[in-house]
Amino acid sequence: MSDSGGHRTSDAPLVEVRGLQKYFYEQDSLVDALLRTDPVAVKAVDGVSFDISAGETLGLVGESGCGKSTCGETLLRLQEPTGGTVHFDGENVFEMQNSDLKSFRRNAQFIFQDPFSSLDPRIPIGRSVREPLETHDWPWTEPDVETEATVRTDGVPRDRVAVSVAADIDKVVTPENGVATATVTVRQLASAADSGEEERGRDTSDTIEATVEEDLTIGVQTDGDRIDVDVSVGRSNKQLRKERAAMLLERVGLSADQRDRYPHEFSGGQRQRVGIARALALNPDFLVLDEPTSALDVSVQAQILNLLSELQAEFDLTYLLISHDLSVIRHISDRVAVMYLGEIVEIAPSEKLFRNPAHPYTQALLESVPRVSTAEQDRNIETLSGDVPSPRNPPSGCRFRTRCPKVIPPPALDIEQPAYRTVMDIRERIENRSLDLDGIREQLANEGKSTGTDELVRELEERLIDTDLDRREAENVETAFRAIANDEWDRAAELLRAEYESICETVSPELQDANDHQAACHLLDDRSVAEHRDRDGTVDSRE
Ligand code: SF4
Repeated sequence: MSDSGGHRTSDAPLVEVRGLQKYFYEQDSLVDALLRTDPVAVKAVDGVSFDISAGETLGLVGESGCGKSTCGETLLRLQEPTGGTVHFDGENVFEMQNSDLKSFRRNAQFIFQDPFSSLDPRIPIGRSVREPLETHDWPWTEPDVETEATVRTDGVPRDRVAVSVAADIDKVVTPENGVATATVTVRQLASAADSGEEERGRDTSDTIEATVEEDLTIGVQTDGDRIDVDVSVGRSNKQLRKERAAMLLERVGLSADQRDRYPHEFSGGQRQRVGIARALALNPDFLVLDEPTSALDVSVQAQILNLLSELQAEFDLTYLLISHDLSVIRHISDRVAVMYLGEIVEIAPSEKLFRNPAHPYTQALLESVPRVSTAEQDRNIETLSGDVPSPRNPPSGCRFRTRCPKVIPPPALDIEQPAYRTVMDIRERIENRSLDLDGIREQLANEGKSTGTDELVRELEERLIDTDLDRREAENVETAFRAIANDEWDRAAELLRAEYESICETVSPELQDANDHQAACHLLDDRSVAEHRDRDGTVDSRE
């Protein structure tokens, strides 16, 4: 919650996401309705929960297409949610209307991957940065904010000084506890010659000088013994907007003199700096950074990440950093949430996740990151193969099971892990009917070979089995291949399912404690781990 001065008064997380869902529906047009075709849900985000504390950076990582960006857009209400809740500073974002929603949109900003597409090429960058200020009618003044001055005197009796403060100085001075305070000093000069140059925050009358510490305008007049001091903003709203845009451009590493240039005159890194300045214009608390460096050269990426770190400290910002790149995530994240096919599969403090990942997907992602330490080079982790399955038809149970190098065999089965993975891959292709038997037959014919069942089965074995199978597995696979060669796909699928069905496909794993953080994997269940370790002795994620 915030006080009237816009400051948070609660220790609760700034952002609380619970069960967030975003489904896109296909086949839900009027024609589909007339044809009575059922809509198909594409579950881009499916029950995601996490918190982000004020001042924290949560990294959200996963491969392309796993729902990260949709998650960021939905929690900012750039997309309407299908389900779940998001609370921002204690308020339910999805129930916000009118002024509350407008205030949320000021406070929570989005930085896009490609700044070129988010900047209007027809308008100069200074105007781009000013645009949100104009849209939201910045600077704001609150009628219930009080204004006052703290007055110091030097060589002047305090009771001679009368200070009046304009009611709208909260346009420039951030109120504290509902009061915007100007800090004024009035002092006696030795002579009128000491009065010096005119400045906004300084004025003189005879031998009296008045100064104000804040970025305000001060005026002093003397009338006999009486000294009248006026404190005001002293500039138009338009001028204040120009000044803020110039300050922000300077702060992100550009020059205010470049304000009249157009986006195409800047490099990718400079354009991202403009995008950041624009996002900061309304002094937000929270930024969603969607792949902020992925369109940039490697040499520029670190500069932008360092800038984001500096700005976070300076402007008290909270970040959700979305990236497919673990090295980017590691650079500035305090905690990391790993997302796979619309779900969070692991969430942990950054160092714990990189030092001791618990989920096989996280482990495989880490395998793709170049090693920096000898300890990490020694890790024995399987790599990731294949693509993320379609969210139109996500795998049952654990969504990672179709690619998991540690998928858990049934307890009664004595099988090596690589052999089990191979059989499961074959099962998957039979169940999806994604084996082009006609194509294989045609190829055999073109090579002058027989296209009979024996040759077809041999060809399938050659193409799909790249590891040693025990006799039992080899026979089961051969029987399944013979069944599909006779167009009995369902029988082949059922035969393999009956023998090889995994807990990973029948039960969806919940997030549970692992290595002092949370991950969703059946290997973290004691029984499954013990059974699995007996088989290959290498896969306990908690070791
Ligand atoms: S639940 Fe099974 S498939 Fe999923 S990550 Fe764990 S071992 Fe792999």
